[in-house]
Amino acid sequence: MTDSHPWQAVIGLEIHAQLSTTSKLFSDASTAYGADPNTQISAVDVALPGTLPVPNRAARDKAIRFGLAIGAQIARKSIFARKNYFYPDLSKGYQISQYELPIVGSGKLVVRTDDGRTLEVEIQRAHLEEDAGKSLHDVFHAATGIDFNRAGVPLLEIVSAPVLHSAQDAVAYMRTVHTLVRWLGICDGNMQEGSFRCDANVSVRPLGETKLGTRTEIKNVNSFRFVEKAIEYEIERQIRALENGERLVQETRLYDAAHHHTRPMRSKEDADDYRYFPDPDLPPLMVTDTDIATIRAGLPELPQARRQRYLETLGLSDADAAQLCADKATADYFEAVLTALPGQAKLCANWVLGELAAALNAGGLAIESSRVSAVAFAHLLRRVHDATISGKIAKDVFAAMWTGEGDADAIIETRGLTQISDVGALAAAVDAVLVEFPVQLADYRGGNEKLLQFFVGQIMKRTRGQANPQQLNTLLREKLHS
Ligand code: ADP
Ligand code: MG
Repeated sequence: MTDSHPWQAVIGLEIHAQLSTTSKLFSDASTAYGADPNTQISAVDVALPGTLPVPNRAARDKAIRFGLAIGAQIARKSIFARKNYFYPDLSKGYQISQYELPIVGSGKLVVRTDDGRTLEVEIQRAHLEEDAGKSLHDVFHAATGIDFNRAGVPLLEIVSAPVLHSAQDAVAYMRTVHTLVRWLGICDGNMQEGSFRCDANVSVRPLGETKLGTRTEIKNVNSFRFVEKAIEYEIERQIRALENGERLVQETRLYDAAHHHTRPMRSKEDADDYRYFPDPDLPPLMVTDTDIATIRAGLPELPQARRQRYLETLGLSDADAAQLCADKATADYFEAVLTALPGQAKLCANWVLGELAAALNAGGLAIESSRVSAVAFAHLLRRVHDATISGKIAKDVFAAMWTGEGDADAIIETRGLTQISDVGALAAAVDAVLVEFPVQLADYRGGNEKLLQFFVGQIMKRTRGQANPQQLNTLLREKLHS
């Protein structure tokens, strides 16, 4: 007896972004990734007796930077609280976090979904907290190792309201946050190294119901694809359970990528269980109006604003604008090309997202390490724009630039690639081909117009691709019809 009605999924994400500071949130120990286990711990990180935490100003400022970027209120006074729980990699017995008074209040983020919708996602809060250590289960036989290097590393926990309704929208939101934190330079976004990860809270309810259903929380997922899979699986599992008349329990679940499912980890604690209380070792974290004004003045143009400008002022397509603004380095490179070749936004966008992106991809390079500078790239595109070379030849020139053969003009010159735009020379090439293929010529004149491409191909072959395509076309048609 299934009472079948449509369901609505409800999702809220808690994203942990590691703030890119050189030292930890409350100590001067290094945060550098990849060091030997337990070589980057200060007595403060594990709360040895007699030590006192001192807040890291750079971490505070990065949290503020994020808050301003989402239009949130910044608390002039926020409180560090102890969240008490036992876990082997938390030798202190508590984690320093923020609870009642987080540094960043509510704000919002505009998210563009893959299918072109625009969502405005409410972010409830973002707070500072320290990371815990890491248990290593597969290093020692029949024993677990603990690496405390991560203990005390600064995190910004970004908490969305439960306003997302599909796995795809949740991922689109997560990507938008990922772009933003890197854009702001507050987090390197490296998901393999754990610098950006998320807990996904999922519930379902009958469509039209306003009360929230019982949720489960999927812990620590660190890839976009896994987040999507995990949420999808969880939505289906919950619907199936409810339709079978089962009751759901609030619990924490783990996503198992190998089996594509989630499984229970522990029943979910409520906030009460953590016995949060203000950390007696830490005074309130203060922020002045001057601090805020200074940080605001240093904010870059934000991704959303830049995308809008590319659409409205430069006339780029929605997809191109979104792709260019997926990270700041790409958008900045594009703008440097455009500055050197004003008015050619579409041409520049096509080439940055096309040939350049492909070459970077093939070489596994970030755009910051591009083998061709923005200015050199613009010079190449100038030669396409002024018809010195065709787009097809330009790809060869670009490939030569990539391997370090020199700048565009030098390569065009030494390889003799200049497009043949001289009417006399082109006409001679056309005539020669028409003489060589009398059968095809007669066939064409008899009505087989598809042969036009055949002639174009032959002439291009003869001119090594250097014929100016438009001119060739006009000339060829003239001669074929004469
Ligand atoms: P906690 O800190 O105990 O995990 P919060 O109430 O602060 O709980 O919520 C944490 C996250 O869970 C938020 O992102 C919020 O949007 C989400 N959330 C809360 N209730 C639900 C629900 N019923 N369904 C889906 N997400 C939820
Ligand atoms: Mg939580």
